[in-house]
Parts: sequence; structure tokens; C-alpha cells
Amino acid sequence: MKTYRIALVPGDGIGKEVVPAGRRVLETVAEVESDCAFAFEEFPWGADFYRRHGVMMPDDGLEAFKAKHAILFGSAGDPAIPDHVTLWGLRLKICQGLDQYANVRPARILPGIDAPLKRCRAEDLDWIIVRENTEGEYSGAGGRVHTGFPTEVATEVAILTRAGVERIQRYAFRLAASRPRKRLTVVTKSNAQRHAMVMWDEIAREVARDFPDVAWDKEMVDAMTARMVNRPASLDTIVATNLHADILSDLAAALAGSLGIGPTANINPERVYPSMFEPIHGSAFDIMGKGIANPIGTFWSAVLMLEHLGEAEAARRVMRAIEQVTANPRLHTRDLGGPATTGEVTDAVCAQMRAAAKSPLTAA
Ligand code: ATP
Repeated sequence: MKTYRIALVPGDGIGKEVVPAGRRVLETVAEVESDCAFAFEEFPWGADFYRRHGVMMPDDGLEAFKAKHAILFGSAGDPAIPDHVTLWGLRLKICQGLDQYANVRPARILPGIDAPLKRCRAEDLDWIIVRENTEGEYSGAGGRVHTGFPTEVATEVAILTRAGVERIQRYAFRLAASRPRKRLTVVTKSNAQRHAMVMWDEIAREVARDFPDVAWDKEMVDAMTARMVNRPASLDTIVATNLHADILSDLAAALAGSLGIGPTANINPERVYPSMFEPIHGSAFDIMGKGIANPIGTFWSAVLMLEHLGEAEAARRVMRAIEQVTANPRLHTRDLGGPATTGEVTDAVCAQMRAAAKSPLTAA
């Protein structure tokens, strides 16, 4: 029997609703899988912690994660605190501090979801976006001088290192090679950004030599937005810098049907540190406390967590249950146009898993 030590960080807004729902799904995994268990520890960090202590998490907080197998995260953000404070104080601190350099976001149209592209069949949109997660445009390099004067100057410097670019490209090529279509699109902007992005392209060409079975191409980020809409089936695995992939993955989530569905994995591929799993949506304060947040993005993130932990069968079990639930429009939350609550969707996913465990033949 394996017991996985999982850190739960609900954070802010609807994170406090979807992370407990995710915990219930993982508890159901432990119930139906005889050889896997979870030991949860919850960390009450985020905006409320900031109001009491002046920081989003304790300075030595990362130490507590190092003995965990994985982290399930909700969201960080509060209307009363500037976004750059909440983002840098919690989520980015964890991603950078635990060297989770690969941010991986699958996008797929799940059964029963009415996605906005009318000419796109479900099988046409099956992407994984790999986002560089520790440097680039969000490296934090820059500063402000003459603050408040008319002469004020601010810089925001994108930093791409050869080591940082090579490791993310290599991760993306390896991931592409593991998928049936073995296809990778490298997103760039080397026509206008003639230093760092040119190096980005050169390194892609170098890394590609080690992956002769991967068919890869290069696309400018602006053209990429149109291609995602007009020719979704031409894409499979995608790799991009921190900023580019941030934007493209929100577009991907919208094209797949809703922000409430998409999952994210922040991976430390060498497994020196735990990886972190979270829905792609934010704190959504407009619907907080109403019990209508869509928990599917968190459940799918739990699937990615189980895959990362090597629990492939458990991951498939949860994904099957998710797809059976999304296929039923009465079990859709309001963001998908349905009447269901967070609790009802969670109950339904857990019930599907229990039913499938009792009659394995019908679950196959
Ligand atoms: P943040 O500033 O933390 O990113 P935000 O509210 O600006 O948060 P999101 O939380 O990403 O941005 O979501 C934008 C809108 O999409 C929300 O206002 C909400 O109405 C809707 N939404 C997002 N996630 C969900 C969800 N899980 N369930 C239902 N609606 C959602």
C-alpha cells in the first residue's frame, strides 16, 4: 500500500470550494483502489493569511512542501489586494521555489460540452500546451525609478537562459514523442524579438535533432491564435514561453468549452521537488460562496496528479467518471449553462467511480 503525502492549498475565492471537492474525489480514489492512500495536510495560505501576517505564505513555507509527494492548489487573488502581490506571493513563489519549470495544460472537448467552434469536431481539438514556468517575460527582472514623477521609468525584462530554454524544449519534444501523433509546434516571435526569441528558435532546432520521430514546426504567436481557431486539428503538442503560453492556454480553455474545466500541472520533471496541480481558472470572486463553482478543472488536475504519481489506472478511473458526468447536461454547473451545484457534480463523480469499481466490466 502506497500512501501519498498531499499538500492542499485552497488559496482564495472559489479555490476554497473546489479544493475540498478535489480532496473528496481523491478520498474516493483511495476507497476504490486497494493499494493507494493519501495523507492530506492543508495550508491556509492566501489573501486571508496576508491580511493577518502581511505575506501570502510564510517565508520558510516552501520547506513544508519538500516532504510532500504533490500539491493540490486552488487559486490566488483577492479584489482588495493587488494581483501582482497575490500572484508573486504565493503561486509564483511556489512554482519558482520548487523549480516547477514545466507548466502543462491539456485542452480537450469533453463529452457533453458545447464548445464555441462550430466546425470543430471533438477529436479535432486535443492539445497539450507546455509553458515555460520559471523565467522569460515573468522572470521578475526590472524596476522603477523616479516613481510618481513625470520622468518615471519602468522596465520589465524578459530573461531567457540557454539552460532554461533547452530544458523546456526537451520536455516538450519528449512529451510530443509520447503522444500518438508525435507532433510539436514551437511558438515564437523571432521576427520582431530578435535576440532571445532567435535563441529560442535555434535551441528548438538543436533539440529537434535528438527527436527524429517528432514532426515539428514553428509558428509566430500572433498567427498561432488564428490557427487554433481555424485549423485546430493541425496542432497537438505546443511549446511556448511563459507569456505566450499564458495567453494561448486561456484561449485553448475557452475553445474547449469553459475556463472551469481546464487543468494545469506545474511539473518539476527531475522530481527533486514536488509538483503542483491546479485548475486553470482564478479565484472568481463573483461566484464565490454560492456553491456553483465548476469543480471539473480541479478533478482533471487531480487526474494529472495521479498520472504524475504513477497511478495510471486510478487516473483513468477518475477521468472516465469525469467524462460520464460532463456527458449529462443536468450535471453541468452554471458556467456550462446547467443547474448543478459544486456538491452535486462532486457527488456524481464520486458515485460514478464507486459504481465502476463495483462492476468493472461496464467501466471498461
Ligand atoms: P483571478 O484574478 O484570480 O484570475 P478572475 O475572477 O479574474 O480571478 P477567473 O477566476 O479565471 O478570473 O474567471 C473569470 C470568470 O470565469 C469568473 O468571474 C467566473 O464567472 C468564471 N469562472 C471561472 N472559473 C469558474 C469555475 N470553476 N466555475 C464557474 N465559473 C467560473
